[in-house]
Amino acid sequence: MSMIHCKYCQHLIDTDFNAEHEDECEFNPKNNTYTIYRFYRNILKEREVVKKLVSLKEAKEHCESADSKGPGWFDGYQMD
Ligand SMILES: [Zn+2]
Repeated sequence: MSMIHCKYCQHLIDTDFNAEHEDECEFNPKNNTYTIYRFYRNILKEREVVKKLVSLKEAKEHCESADSKGPGWFDGYQMD
């Protein structure tokens, strides 16, 4: 049996369980949830929530798509 440090949380883990741990590790960015916001160039207008609790992949895909921006606004995401 050998142990390694999780690259995300630094806990010692048995190498046999490392993959399993990484899927569940709360410090793995893959496991974080994100909120997509709509930002307005008009500074008097507050950002609006577009979608909550999305994965990083989903947030990126949304913000890279053509319908995530328009005249005076664009969508962006932040980690929860
Ligand atoms: Zn970990």
